Amino acid sequence: MAGRIPQHFIDELLNRIDIVDLIDSRVPLRKAGRDFQARCPFHEEKSPSFTVSQTKQFYHCFGCGAHGSAISFLMEYDHLDFIEAIKELADKAGIALPSTEEEHTHKAVDKDLYGVMEEACNFYRQQLRSHADGPKAVEYLKGRGLTGQIANDFGIGFAPPGWDSLLKTAGGSRQREAQLATTGMAITKEDGRHYDRFRNRIMFPIRDRRGRIIAFGGRVIDNNDTPKYLNSPESPLFHKGKELYGLYEARQAQRQIDRLLVVEGYMDVVALAQHGICYAVATLGTALTTDHIAPLYRTTQEVVFCFDGDRAGRDAAWKALDIMLPELNEGRTARFMFLADGEDPDTLVRKVGQEAFELEVKNAVPLSTFLLDNLLQQVDMGAIDGRARLVELVRPKLAKISNAVFRHMLINALATRIHINAQELLQLLGEKSAPVNQTKRPRQQQHNIESRKLSPIRTAITLLLNHPSLAQSAGDPQRYLQLAEPGIRLLVELLELALNNPHINCGTILERWRDRPEGKHLSKLASAPVYHTTDEGLEMEFHDTLRLLDRQRVEQEHERLRRKSETGPLSQEEKRKFTQLLSEKHALAQPSNNR
Ligand SMILES: [Zn+2]
Repeated sequence: MAGRIPQHFIDELLNRIDIVDLIDSRVPLRKAGRDFQARCPFHEEKSPSFTVSQTKQFYHCFGCGAHGSAISFLMEYDHLDFIEAIKELADKAGIALPSTEEEHTHKAVDKDLYGVMEEACNFYRQQLRSHADGPKAVEYLKGRGLTGQIANDFGIGFAPPGWDSLLKTAGGSRQREAQLATTGMAITKEDGRHYDRFRNRIMFPIRDRRGRIIAFGGRVIDNNDTPKYLNSPESPLFHKGKELYGLYEARQAQRQIDRLLVVEGYMDVVALAQHGICYAVATLGTALTTDHIAPLYRTTQEVVFCFDGDRAGRDAAWKALDIMLPELNEGRTARFMFLADGEDPDTLVRKVGQEAFELEVKNAVPLSTFLLDNLLQQVDMGAIDGRARLVELVRPKLAKISNAVFRHMLINALATRIHINAQELLQLLGEKSAPVNQTKRPRQQQHNIESRKLSPIRTAITLLLNHPSLAQSAGDPQRYLQLAEPGIRLLVELLELALNNPHINCGTILERWRDRPEGKHLSKLASAPVYHTTDEGLEMEFHDTLRLLDRQRVEQEHERLRRKSETGPLSQEEKRKFTQLLSEKHALAQPSNNR
């Protein structure tokens, strides 16, 4: 994904932004020595272990391990994806985003459109208070148990009757009218003139993850009017299959969201919030799509999907399950909650209250249980071909699951349910029998290596990430390529990057590795504490480490040539090299003079 935005632009952006300002505007920071501190926004804590370094342009929490650049911070804290975080920073820095492929194919969004939507929202809110028909709308909201506070939190308003109330207020020029038409707020007639799309309706602004209004939902006041719910059409701002109503509001209400509840309509979201359940979001008149999954799990690890208890609801759940299967991994949980016939979350929460409702949320059926129950219902296990049929039904579902651990967990659960052992089931499925532990083991090993003392290469990388300018006195990095040690290529690449970019900082370096497998290791090393108070101390350790690597390099090469000389004569070039290595070896054996 990073590929779509040129690297030099990301470098430039991170150069302009100060991570301390950025984080301080969201989490107030306190100066502590060279760095800045706060209580970590990503985990609960009493004393601050969240540290932001201005020189490194990097944050790190010693409590929960959260860390990264300014871009990572926005992604984590504001729950943005990579491109959105870049956009946000570019806005802040006042620099224009280079045109990406996406913007070549889709026309760039006219920024004014957001202003038009904001103006419409203000107009509707003001109409709710002041229009002659406003009290009817207020009565309706009160009848649904909503207070003025909640209406305010969600920006609920009132679109008055009449064909041009909004146009009269927010129109004014041909350009404005065209913008209202582009956003779907106005409809264009055959003669080219416009009229208001939303009339005599309660208005719910729909915000994107950055809080900008991108669409509206309108509900009739009089139940005899149709359609009962009317949404904005697709527009440059609004792609309904991607958006979740209430996600922005949920994040405003709670920093730490332990769980999200996915419901059908905006009235459900608002009614639940009214009862203290501030973690509900709604798909906007569409079934769940793959595009909904990422923002959900970027916000929390546990998602409960709420469905009607009837046949249609079960079918919808089955479809949602197919969308979920490829997206699941060990950390993510998905559960399904089914409502009694004729209930929706709005009516249910008003009937039973917060506590009982949340109990139902907590008791929702795990996705795996729902899947197995369903499959088993379709098969008569008493029949001769019962097992074979079951295997045929399970296979396509398993094929969708990319996560090995989740897959094996599911197979084990199924084996238990049908009383055969897991190995036998794996054979029936034609799967290789890889026990769950095997996939987990590498992580365990990694952990042990990390807690051991750092190797010279890791030490050099850690110091370099902390002080990229050290590369300036490191000599030619290419010489290390001869060294047969894991990680050496990474070190050489880092040395060259820092050598060619004298002002680069840690955060910017890490961004270059965002999509590369070594990126995670680099971030961890960047977070490792460096115990030097003076720059001289750092430099000395860096050069001692490089000397160690040089010695290893010379010895390896020397040994290689020595062995070769035992099998036959060395070439002129090799002899020259041999002598050179000897003198290098001699020089390196002298006590360090710290160059
Ligand atoms: Zn933390």
